[in-house]
Amino acid sequence: MIRATEGFTARLDGLRRQWLPMNSSMIVTAPLPQSFWDEVGWQGAELLGDMAHYYMYAQRTADDRIAFGGRGRPYLYGSRIDARGHTHEWTVEALWRLLTDFFPAARSSSVEHAWSGVLGVPRDWCSTVHVDPATGLGWAGGYTGHGVTTTNLAGRTLRDLILGEETELTALPWVGRKVRAWEPEPLRWLGVHAMYRLYRVADHRERTMPRTSALARFADLITGH
Ligand SMILES: Cc1cc2nc3c(=O)[nH]c(=O)nc-3n(C[C@H](O)[C@H](O)[C@H](O)COP(=O)(O)OP(=O)(O)OC[C@H]3O[C@@H](n4cnc5c(N)ncnc54)[C@H](O)[C@@H]3O)c2cc1C
Repeated sequence: MIRATEGFTARLDGLRRQWLPMNSSMIVTAPLPQSFWDEVGWQGAELLGDMAHYYMYAQRTADDRIAFGGRGRPYLYGSRIDARGHTHEWTVEALWRLLTDFFPAARSSSVEHAWSGVLGVPRDWCSTVHVDPATGLGWAGGYTGHGVTTTNLAGRTLRDLILGEETELTALPWVGRKVRAWEPEPLRWLGVHAMYRLYRVADHRERTMPRTSALARFADLITGH
């Protein structure tokens, strides 16, 4: 049996502290006119990101919208999960503010859709694939928001492990890794929220700094990132 429940793993008995369920959200604008794309000089399908600690990313969709992602409320106390995919108004507004800071010419547009999901974040931010030969139970995950292609590699690796084959994939260092659990509450909630506060302040400071701020390095230490 394979467990592939990613951020939802926190709802399973005994696994609440294995992978932190981190919320991630996106908004998408209405289709934008050619004059917008000409003004900002975004002619191709380039992907954009600000590379901040509290980062954003964006892409121009095939039907000429901006799809824009980033963090909303990152974590709910006790590893709770809003499984309805509901996006808080606060998050939509924060993403829209950020989008229009980057692209003031998009202010005449609007948010047409917003959606949210949950990512699985291990304590050391690195994914794992494992099959326990004694129980036959296997799992893969902890992709920290990079699972679109990693799940493919994980699936092929699980196949080899289940068949008991020693292959190039089963020799990869993420197979059978032991990762320590996240701290119990309220430390977990305090740690995550303190980390995000530090990263936001660090981003602000780094606007006028040529290097990574000491605050961000400290936050990296706390998070194990
Ligand atoms: C807004 C957003 C943007 C993202 N952007 C990117 C991106 O640009 N690039 C990228 O690589 N990744 C991105 N990700 C992350 C990516 O979606 C995940 O890493 C990927 O979906 C993980 O795949 P998965 O199948 O392991 O888990 P999931 O897709 O989370 O699937 C887990 C499944 O388990 C099911 N489940 C839960 N509990 C149980 C249970 N008890 N029993 C049975 N089934 C259960 C759930 O219903 C769900 O279908 C993004 C995620 C979000 C939310």
